[in-house]
Amino acid sequence: MTLALQFAMAAEATPFLERRGLAHAHTDPRYGFEFHEGDGLVVAIAGTHPRYRVDSIGTISAVLLTSTLLERYRPALVVNAGTAGGFQARGAKVGDVFLGAEVAVFHDRRIPLPGFEAMGRAHLPVHCDRALAAKLGLKVGVVSTGDSLDCTPEDLAQLTALGAQVKEMEAASIAWVCERHGVPLVLLKAITDLVDHPSATSEQFVKNLALAVGRLTDALEALMEQLP
Ligand code: SAH
Repeated sequence: MTLALQFAMAAEATPFLERRGLAHAHTDPRYGFEFHEGDGLVVAIAGTHPRYRVDSIGTISAVLLTSTLLERYRPALVVNAGTAGGFQARGAKVGDVFLGAEVAVFHDRRIPLPGFEAMGRAHLPVHCDRALAAKLGLKVGVVSTGDSLDCTPEDLAQLTALGAQVKEMEAASIAWVCERHGVPLVLLKAITDLVDHPSATSEQFVKNLALAVGRLTDALEALMEQLP
């Protein structure tokens, strides 16, 4: 069986690739997506945007990458691993690793029209093994996705109403594609920053990235050992 791992940023994926010694297999010529293969695994990374010269983070690239990944490799399971913001009011600390709870949601798609409101916010299936999370010492929380690193008052209201514990920029969009393909998705997110903390998210992110990615890589290794 092929297991797929999807990352948004090279900095999130590199320690795992180095530990596993996975070889680079393919670069998508149009979008710059990077694929590494080996050990029954395929690792898909959003890659560098050709014009902006930074990682192609966010939902647009995530959706295209998941679609490409599923069609090219037909994996039995996708794990989306990455960094995220947490909420100290709900017990999160920098360096915590969360396994995504059973649904993923969006916090920045506000469409107050009948029917469209529910579609915008969405309620997308995620595979969550709570017993496994307990065994591996992972927290479990609802992951919410939006296309901004900051958090507007409207976003915060939505995150609170949805009971989200984890705020990031890809997971729900990946869940949207996986659901259509009938492929289970697992979310693993390490906390780089606290949304409800006085210092700027971007400063916290840069300061804590290496710590969080180290924890993410350890958790990913532990999770892989438990999969069939
Ligand atoms: N400023 C960073 C750019 C990436 S931050 C840099 O200098 O390198 C955004 C990435 O980290 C996204 O892929 C997102 O999924 C995740 N992320 C981490 N903390 C986040 C937060 N508080 N809100 C939204 N996304 C966050």
